[in-house]
Amino acid sequence: MRAVRRRIIPLLLALLLLAGCAYPARDPEANESSSVDLLAMDTVMRVTAYGKHREAAELAREKITALESLLSVTNENSEIYAANHALGASVELSPDTAALLSRALELCDSTGGALDVTIYPVVRAWGFTTDQFRVPGAEELSALLERVDYRQVALDGSTLTLPEGVELDLGAVAKGYTGDCVAALLRAEGVESALLELGGNIQAVGAKPGGSPWRVAVTDPNGGGFAGVVEVVDKAVVTSGGYERYFEQDGETYWHIIDPATGRPARSGLLSVTIIAEEGIKCDALSTALFVMGPEKAADYWRENGGFDCILLSDDGRIILTEGIEDSFTPYGDWTDAPVEVLQR
Ligand code: FAD
Ligand code: MG
Repeated sequence: MRAVRRRIIPLLLALLLLAGCAYPARDPEANESSSVDLLAMDTVMRVTAYGKHREAAELAREKITALESLLSVTNENSEIYAANHALGASVELSPDTAALLSRALELCDSTGGALDVTIYPVVRAWGFTTDQFRVPGAEELSALLERVDYRQVALDGSTLTLPEGVELDLGAVAKGYTGDCVAALLRAEGVESALLELGGNIQAVGAKPGGSPWRVAVTDPNGGGFAGVVEVVDKAVVTSGGYERYFEQDGETYWHIIDPATGRPARSGLLSVTIIAEEGIKCDALSTALFVMGPEKAADYWRENGGFDCILLSDDGRIILTEGIEDSFTPYGDWTDAPVEVLQR
């Protein structure tokens, strides 16, 4: 069995494309910047604030570390761990955990359960988050799926009650929420230009120093480079794909994005989904959910809900993108000549 995590690759690609942002000393547009690098939420993170903002960058680091210790599903001291082990009793959540969960539940609802934050029993059975990978049998999965239903989560203000057996996993949304918190913190500290690289989640505060848009790489899910570049200002760009974390057994590849309808890795015809919008948690939630939905349902969701742009890379080599991003996305590498379909309302 071979297990793979490749979250470092998108980061390196982003760093390459954003050269000058990650290494601002070489950027003639940026006189001064402060970066913090950290390993959190099992991924490599970098926050760069332009201008004289050393203290703000340090506050960003503290915020990320604090959120990690609240939200980790495996850390026995986290609020999520406590909620998952409360055996039906109510627990009090901190304002951040309550705000994140409340927004996540709205997004579970709006995606018809393609995003389901109670997927943890199934994720654990496959060995994701514990690295003890295995393929659960059909009976085991159908028993576990009885415990998966976000509608069973009762959140009343900051009071959370989970029925016994129901367990939360905020892995699909926590980095997006973290991006929103850090962006808000930096803005409150007077930062007008910053880049947050939180694994596959990129979040931009303002434009690059000098006013040009940030250029963010979209990883080639087939490996070996990137599939395109998207230009953004003041937005989050979040990608989910089967290539990020997976294992192989008996010639089959099993990845970490699970279809809550089957309990098995989602095979919907997509290799990756990139979502672009102002709100990081929405991007994170929808990158996971639209990957589960597949290209047709994802297009329907966008037409019905709007409020974001997306780039879908299909397993038959197509690029499907929304009209709002058409002029700011440039395919690259093996995807340069791929057929492009533009979704219109
Ligand atoms: P996304 O597509 O954003 O999310 C996929 C993840 O969400 C899956 O890994 C699964 O956990 C969950 N998921 C799968 N399908 C669904 C679905 N349909 N609906 C809702 N959720 C779904 N990993 C470790 O190995 N060790 C750690 O110690 C560890 N600590 C972490 C601490 C925190 C606070 C967080 C947020 C994450 C941590 N992780 C850890 C990583 C985590 O387990 C996921 O791998 C990661 O969040 C996946 O993010 P992504 O952007 O790759 O994929
Ligand atoms: Mg996600």
